[in-house]
Amino acid sequence: MTNYFRSNIDAMASYVPGEQPQRGTKIIKLNSNENPYPPSPDALAVLRNIDGEWLRRYPEPLGGEFRQAVSKVLGVPSDWIIVGNGSDELLSVVIRACAEPGRKVVYPMPTYVLYRTLAEMQAAEIIEIPYSNDYSLPLEELIVTDGSVTFIASPNSPSGHVVPIDDLRKLASQLSGVLVIDEAYVDFAEENALALVEEYENVIIIRTLSKGYSLAGLRLGFGVANPKLLHGLFKVKDSYNIDAIACAVGTAAITDQTYKNACVAKIKASRIKLAKDLKQLGFHLWDSQTNFLLAQPPQGNAEYLYQKLKEQGILIRYFKQPGLEDKLRITVGTDEQNQTLVKTLSYLLRTGE
Ligand SMILES: *Cc1c(COP(=O)(O)O)cnc(C)c1O
Repeated sequence: MTNYFRSNIDAMASYVPGEQPQRGTKIIKLNSNENPYPPSPDALAVLRNIDGEWLRRYPEPLGGEFRQAVSKVLGVPSDWIIVGNGSDELLSVVIRACAEPGRKVVYPMPTYVLYRTLAEMQAAEIIEIPYSNDYSLPLEELIVTDGSVTFIASPNSPSGHVVPIDDLRKLASQLSGVLVIDEAYVDFAEENALALVEEYENVIIIRTLSKGYSLAGLRLGFGVANPKLLHGLFKVKDSYNIDAIACAVGTAAITDQTYKNACVAKIKASRIKLAKDLKQLGFHLWDSQTNFLLAQPPQGNAEYLYQKLKEQGILIRYFKQPGLEDKLRITVGTDEQNQTLVKTLSYLLRTGE
């Protein structure tokens, strides 16, 4: 076996995504930050009316129709937009275009675990810089390290905090490499960094339809950057990375802002309620501008609670990682799901060790 793979592939660990139970399994699934509400009815109507002819032909290489729709919604010219098969693909495209052995990939920790996996595939030099306890950005260290690629998730997972735009601006202006701002959770946040792509040609903002638009199964994301930066990224992506169905359904979904905003409003209200209930149980919480909460249980038994909840049919996320061993990441579900979670936690805290 040893000779099949490049040595860095042999050496690296596989990315472990959140558990995805089989469809039909009776479970309350609060482990992957999916939206608890269905996709826009407009998007589902388009899906029902997919024309076989669209599937016979190859799709538009740049996701033309969806790109136009994003352009309209964001007020950004369409040639500033790159479309991806999920935002994960775009993260991978940036890494493949910009990282190699001897080039640095840099990000603050803890954050989205996939950044490390992608950098390992390229055998790039990985520099992880810890966040302080209050999750303020280690700005000076990030600037001094000056990666070929620097990843900042904002809002960040699993902490849920937004990185202030002034910090991102300083970073963009000082870095000689590419600054990727991963805004997967932007739909739940009070601010965003889109303005920076106009100011700095080394900045790419990456967004997804998986969270705010309830379309994780569709696989559709997009990036916004100066066409100079996109030029290099287009060389790297697969020719037909956006399938015709995703393009059509995604177009309807992103055009229906009213529906998305209504779902987001419900989730934010539920987040506030859930946070209050968890605090009442003694959990320590961090302010979240996302559809999840990072929660530290009162008795420091995070892994125990994760396991026990799983036995009760409730999936949340536990990361066995420095700084996170004593915490749980909980996706905000419907009020009913959240209530079941709170009741079960309350029971476990009373009876557990
Ligand atoms: C969910 C998530 C993504 C992945 O989004 P997809 O578009 O589904 O690939 C990217 N970054 C972060 C931080 C996420 O939490």
